[in-house]
Order: sequence, then structure tokens, then C-alpha cells
Amino acid sequence: MMKLEAGVYLLREGDPPTCGYLIESGRLEVLLERDGAPRTLAILGPGELVGEMALVDNAPRTANVRAIEACELLPITPEHVAARLAGADPILRLVLGTVLDRFRTTLRSFGGEAAAPTPARDRQVRAAALAELRLEKELRTAIDAGQLAVHYQPIVSILDQRLIGFEALARWSHPDRGLIPPDVFIPVAEASGLSADVACFCLAQVSRDVPLIAEFAATGNDRAPAPKVSINISGNDLTVPGFIARLGAIAQRGAAGTRAVTLELTETALVQSPSEAASALDAARALGFRIAVDDFGTGYSSLNYIRTLPVDCLKIDRTFVQGMSHCANTRSIVASMIQLAHQLDLEVVGEGIETEDQRMVLEALGCELGQGYLFGRPAPLAQTIELAGRWRRPAKIEMPVILSASA
Ligand code: C2E
Ligand code: CA
Ligand code: CA
Repeated sequence: MMKLEAGVYLLREGDPPTCGYLIESGRLEVLLERDGAPRTLAILGPGELVGEMALVDNAPRTANVRAIEACELLPITPEHVAARLAGADPILRLVLGTVLDRFRTTLRSFGGEAAAPTPARDRQVRAAALAELRLEKELRTAIDAGQLAVHYQPIVSILDQRLIGFEALARWSHPDRGLIPPDVFIPVAEASGLSADVACFCLAQVSRDVPLIAEFAATGNDRAPAPKVSINISGNDLTVPGFIARLGAIAQRGAAGTRAVTLELTETALVQSPSEAASALDAARALGFRIAVDDFGTGYSSLNYIRTLPVDCLKIDRTFVQGMSHCANTRSIVASMIQLAHQLDLEVVGEGIETEDQRMVLEALGCELGQGYLFGRPAPLAQTIELAGRWRRPAKIEMPVILSASA
């Protein structure tokens, strides 16, 4: 933060360009001084940028800038902008890069000094943007063309490994590129406004599949309640008008209804616009859906929102679960997450359980549900039905069955 007293000059005409400034507080005057006669070009205030041309070209300053009153400024360097741009979405970079280059060309045509575009960088940006735009275009048709599928991963009771339900995970079977993982296409779906359609597709598929899975789960275990299924929802979807009602209508058309379905949202999604998230979650719960916070611990970890938002379940991210065995601190963090969840009456799922050791630690910490390769990998419907059919009877409920048979 940089402070400037009233009357002090921030920039002088002819100074070399260094950086731009975001005005936090106070007002500045942009002025030209010719033959001792100052002429005000602009008055700038909080939230506005000043000296921003330094971010675009290498030319000396073309005007003076002076504080009218005490100011607080945040400097923004060209390197800062370049680093942000390098990490930005490729389509955004292509558009911004093109606009900046056009602006520089215009400046040069008027005799100004401006940085020339870098062809190599341009080629890379263009190629990345093109690949993403292509993927986006193909994703638009993939849903209708039946290229998306849902795989199911078991969620079990940690204590006795009873099958409780599944998480539905989207898969894209691309005709040329084979199976594209969700980590690749979900960000594209989110950036192009298609993630709500992906969620609706998954829910429609789940609504068709759950009765089939339930039927077979019952043959393997005559006391098994109908399995619950989670679907993943992207944060942006919560602000799509009518999205929750659309989910409700899809679930209600299926035999399992909304009560069998949990909507999983990440912490980041929930804190992006907390009031919109809260009203969307209220609406979802009113329809009968349950709400889970996904990847808990990786986002803002502000425990306050958990208290205020209508959620039913916390899913502890796998990085914590997998870090527990070799890090006592991680184990303490997981212990407090579980304790906190229980204090708030929330169910807890430990994610990414790969070893019996991890399962036992979670059991000792009181975590009731688990998900991970130890219990089963995500699998297509046919395999899931088969798995549900031969899922072992839980040890804990065998006793009463034997007793009632002998009575
Ligand atoms: P997620 O919601 O955290 O889902 C769990 C991911 O962890 C899945 O990866 C699953 O295969 C993987 N996993 C489960 N158990 C283990 C384990 O024991 N070890 C390890 N190393 N990994 C395990 P997947 O299917 O590749 O999905 C990745 C992410 O993509 C999901 O993470 C979720 O954020 C997103 N995703 C998947 N389907 C959808 C969808 O339909 N909509 C949205 N918005 N996102 C989705
Ligand atoms: Ca999830
Ligand atoms: Ca997760």
C-alpha cells in the first residue's frame, strides 16, 4: 500500500513507465501543464486505475498525476499482469492478448512506443484456446450423442463396510480421444455454461439406474435399504435460474425421487456467493435433496459457513485421509473435522480410503462413512449392479437374523 499526501505528484510527464495504480482511497487529478497553465484532464477516485498505460506500452508518461487529497494506492506492475494472464483461461488470454496487440498497433501507427506482440507466445495461446473451444463445441453435442456416461463408486459404513450408496461420477467417452476424465472436461463445461446440463444428465441417468441397483442390492442383502446416490454440482450452477427446480423435476420423474439423492458441492462453490448458495440449498432441501460439502478442508476452510449453510454431510478430502498415516498434525486436523461435523449434526464421509490402516484410523476417530479404492473404484452400471448383488452381508446384522431364525 502506498500513501500520498494532498498536493504530491504521483507521476510527471516524461517519467519512464513503471506500473499502474489502483486507487484505494482519496482522489487524484490527471493534468497537463503547458506554459505554466495547468489543464485538468480527469479526476479519478476509489476503485479506478491510474497510470495504467505503463501496463500496455513502454512509452514515457504523457501527463502529470497529482493527489487532490490524501490517497492510498495499490501498485500493479506489468509483471504482475503478465503472470496473471499466463495463468488465465486460454480463451480469455487470446481475447485480451488480441485486444492489447490491436491497441499497441494503433499506438505505433500514431508514432507511439509500444511493445510488439511475441509470435511464439501468440501461437501457444492460440493453440490452447483452439483446443479448448473445440472441446467445448464437442461437449455441447456429446450429451445428446450419448457420449457421456455415469460411473458409480461405493460409499460404505466404515464400521462394518455395509454398502450405503454410491457417488455418481461423469465420464466422457469421446469417439476419437477415448475416455476423457472429468478433471479435463468438467472445467470446460463450467467455463462454457454446460455444467448444469452435465449435472442434469447425471441425475437423469442416476434416477434410471438407482432402482436397478437397489433391486440387486436387495438380493445380496435382504435388509439393505435402497442405496443413496450423490451427484456433483458445479458452483456456478447454483446461480443458473431454475436449476434446482429442474433437478427436482428430473428426480421426481424417477422411482427413487429426491430423497435418495445427495448434491455434492465444494467449499469454494459455496463461498463464491454465499447468499445465493444458501437460498439455492434451501430450495434443494425443500425438494428433498440432501447436501454434502465435497473436498472438505481444501477450500476456504472457514468453518463459519458450515454452521450457517443448510448442509447434511461433510466429505473429508482425500489429501487429509491419505496424509493421516504419516503426519500426526493431519490426523489431528481430521479428528477435529469429524468432531466439528458431529457437533453440528452432520454426517461425515472420509474420501480416498486406499488402505485398511486409513480405514481403521477413521473408524477410531468416529467417522461413519467411507469411500475409496479400498472398497471399490468407480465402475459402469453393469459392474455396479453386479457388485451390489454380491456385496457381503454386514457382520453386525447377521446376529439378529440367526437369532430370529432359531426362535
Ligand atoms: P470428487 O467429487 O472428489 O470425486 C472423487 C474422485 O476421487 C473421483 O475421481 C474418484 O475416482 C477419485 N477417487 C475415489 N477414491 C479414490 C482413492 O481411493 N484414491 C484416489 N487416488 N482417488 C480416488 P474422478 O471420477 O476422476 O472425478 C474427479 C472429479 O471430477 C470429481 O472429484 C469431481 O470434482 C469432478 N466430477 C466428476 N463427475 C462430475 C460431474 O458430474 N459434475 C461435476 N460438476 N463434477 C464432476
Ligand atoms: Ca464429489
Ligand atoms: Ca471429493
